[in-house]
Order: sequence, then C-alpha cells, then structure tokens
Amino acid sequence: MTLTQLEDHVQQTRRDILRMVHAVNSGHPGGSLGCTEFFTALYGEIMDYSTDFKMDGIGEDLFFLSNGHISPVFYSTLARFGFFPVEELKTFRKIDSRLQGHPTTHEGLPGIRIASGSLGQGLSVAIGAALAKKLNNDDKLVYTLHGDGELQEGQIWEALMFASAKGVDNLISTIDYNGRQIDGDTKDVLDLGNLRAKLEAFDWLVLEEKEGNNLEKVIAILQKAKSETGKGKPVAIILHTEMGNGIDYMMGSHSWHGKAPNDELLEKGLLQNPETDLKDY
Ligand SMILES: [Mg+2]
Repeated sequence: MTLTQLEDHVQQTRRDILRMVHAVNSGHPGGSLGCTEFFTALYGEIMDYSTDFKMDGIGEDLFFLSNGHISPVFYSTLARFGFFPVEELKTFRKIDSRLQGHPTTHEGLPGIRIASGSLGQGLSVAIGAALAKKLNNDDKLVYTLHGDGELQEGQIWEALMFASAKGVDNLISTIDYNGRQIDGDTKDVLDLGNLRAKLEAFDWLVLEEKEGNNLEKVIAILQKAKSETGKGKPVAIILHTEMGNGIDYMMGSHSWHGKAPNDELLEKGLLQNPETDLKDY
C-alpha cells in the first residue's frame, strides 16, 4: 500500500471514530484518535495476518489490544482492512451488536482474540500467546498496545518481569504515551516517572518515538522493533501521541477520553477530516 493510501485510511478512520461515538453518544474518541496512525501502520504495513479469522492464529502475527476502551479505532481498522463489513460499524455499542463498547470474544467478531475491558491484562495474555508460538515453532510475532494510564495496574509489572526473565523475544509491546488518562494528566493521577528507565530495569529492549502521530515515523519504529525481535529480550515502544489527534477541539486535554461530540462538534471534526475514496460507512 502507498503512503497516500495509508494516509487515507488514517483520515477515514478518524471519521469513523467520530461518527461511531456520536451516533450512540458514548464511547472513547480521545485515545482512539491518538492511536489511529499506530493501527493503520500495524494492519496496513507491519503485521502478517489473514482476514479469514481463526482464533489460534497459527502462522500469523497476532495483536492484542490491552486498553480495550479505545475500541472505535480497533473496530474501524479491522473493518477497513477486511475482517468484517464496514457497514457493521453503524452497530457500535448497540444491543446485540458484535461491536460492544469494550471488545469481547463471545460476540465472535473477527479480529478480536481477548476481552479487554479491565485494564492491565493484555500483556499477560500476549505473553502466553508468544510462548505458545515458540513451543509450536511458529516464527510470527505478537503485538500489544497499552495506555500509559494502564501501566498503573500492578499486573502489568508482573508480566513485564516475566517476559524478560523467560526470554519472550517475539513480543512487541507499544505504550500509547499520551500523558493523559480518564481523570487527568498521568503525572498528576499517578506519575509513571522515568518510564524508559523502568522498562530497561525490567530488562526490556526499549525504543521510543516522539512523533507517534507521524505515520511514516510510526511505521519506521515498528519496523525497527521487528528487527530487534529474536535477540533474547521483549521489545517495548514508548510512542508519544496526542489524545484526540486530528480534531482540534479534542487535543491538549484529557476531557475527550470518554465523551462523544454533539451534532455541531461532529460536523466541525468531520470538516477537519474530509471523506476519502474509502467512503463513509
Ligand atoms: Mg493515556
């Protein structure tokens, strides 16, 4: 896919996110918009997968979304890259929809391998999947995404310790380092301190990208991460992002973590991100 085509995916996904949360007046646009480039890079350029979805994912790269509340960007990406019909995005958060507010597995939505409403659990699951790949001589990789606020969960640090101690070097975990969480700035709620030093102290190989909303740079850092797998250590990417990226009134604050735009603000946001050739659902 060309960079222009990938950029169209980013823009169309921003529109999907806004329209999905607006339609049901609920959901999480802020973190979704901050990670749009990451998801487009991952599914458009980086991962090797089949849209003929099989839960065990043998011979495929796997992705686990640990901060499950940013489901709008995940659902839009899965639909836009062919896992299920794009029209199904209109059922987001509705009764009997396969697109629940937080992803679950019992709805059977292709592309979803874990329930991730409760924060802090995705890394543990991903480590299990990565170890299973090693046991099966499957050389594909396992990817995860975590919120920075999510790192306040204790289970994350148990999993970080385990992954390096057991040499889980087929795992690439990205941290959406936007500095914000539901109640405010992460440094005010519970400061993560020197995150890079902490991850390195847990014996992870740590990469960092300051421009996490620059698509080319996100692709490059993920490619760099791939090149660092198989060397004995799990790989972490600290990805600096902007919550609400691409929608001017959402940027610079935590206040759009879990709030939908009204009719007027929806229009404003859509004007900032015109419809692409991929077309609205
Ligand atoms: Mg955050």
